[in-house]
Amino acid sequence: MLADETRRRHVGDAVHLRGLIEISNHCVRECGYCGLRAANRSLKRYRMTADEIMACTAAAVEFGYGTVVLQSGEDDGIRQRWLSDIIRKIKSDTNLAVTLSLGERPDEDLAAWRVAGADRYLLRFETSDPVLYRLIHPPRPGRASDRFAILKKLRELGYEVGSGVMIGIPGQTYGSLADDIEAFRRLDLDMIGVGPYISHPATPLAKHAALRPIPPDQQVPNSELMTYKVVALTRLVRPDANIPSTTALATLNKESGRELGMSRGANVIMPNLTPPQYRILYEIYPSKACLFETAEDCRSRLKNRILAMGRTVGQGPGGRGRP
Ligand code: SAM
Ligand code: SF4
Repeated sequence: MLADETRRRHVGDAVHLRGLIEISNHCVRECGYCGLRAANRSLKRYRMTADEIMACTAAAVEFGYGTVVLQSGEDDGIRQRWLSDIIRKIKSDTNLAVTLSLGERPDEDLAAWRVAGADRYLLRFETSDPVLYRLIHPPRPGRASDRFAILKKLRELGYEVGSGVMIGIPGQTYGSLADDIEAFRRLDLDMIGVGPYISHPATPLAKHAALRPIPPDQQVPNSELMTYKVVALTRLVRPDANIPSTTALATLNKESGRELGMSRGANVIMPNLTPPQYRILYEIYPSKACLFETAEDCRSRLKNRILAMGRTVGQGPGGRGRP
């Protein structure tokens, strides 16, 4: 298969493991697709302590991961200084690369965290279709929500930059998905995550289906097959990017979704390091893969699966251009 061969030639057989730590499920935003949205009052909220985060990073070192990804809702309770101190501590105590995925934060925060040592930032643009984007991703009152501008800023600040989209958002057409893939090429992204949209019952998209009605034959399906096609096309347009086989894909096919993603162009997996009592509360969509696995089980199962495919487990931070 062309995408797999392209992956092999450009980034090699190593699969990089990035330990995911879901540090807070507080969110001020009202994204129409996500279970963490502020209006979902039935969700119990948490924010991990600095000590809890450091314990997860110690597990990442023990498991041989090269990167930790600190992810959260858009949580104003995550203060610039507090997180800077945590990033500094991770960088001084370990050799881990630090990736942040904390939503649309002010430029000053992004700059301070970069100075503190953060290496990468993930911010999906979700869809390049401006009309659909506005419908599913209302801005914060009084603020613009221009994720392309933030991606540009992140690049200027010296971050490795990751982005991506959901596949099969109600109202997403094949034409707009083709534009998304074209945007991956244009933006020269270091990391590109594409995963299926999965409906969460406590969201407007689940309750009202398409916020923008389109002819049924133009609606992109949020299927496993469509996700594989987009992963493969993404590899072809960005041969040297880091492309994860996402948890959302593994949720659609718990048996072999991750492997099939890896054999269609992906070269990264993000095993979950979040403590179990918090992991169940980070419910962006229901029945997430690996919800009840321990971090240790998750690691050994993934490692075995990678080796069984004839691939190797990546060593070190595994940034772009460093297979
Ligand atoms: N709050 C940050 C942000 O929005 O960038 C980071 C956390 S957010 C939960 C991470 C990603 O989850 C989003 O970029 C979105 O693509 C994905 N996501 C949210 N709701 C989803 C859903 N219902 N189905 C699939 N992916 C979803
Ligand atoms: Fe909040 Fe991110 Fe979910 Fe939007 S996608 S509601 S910003 S956690």
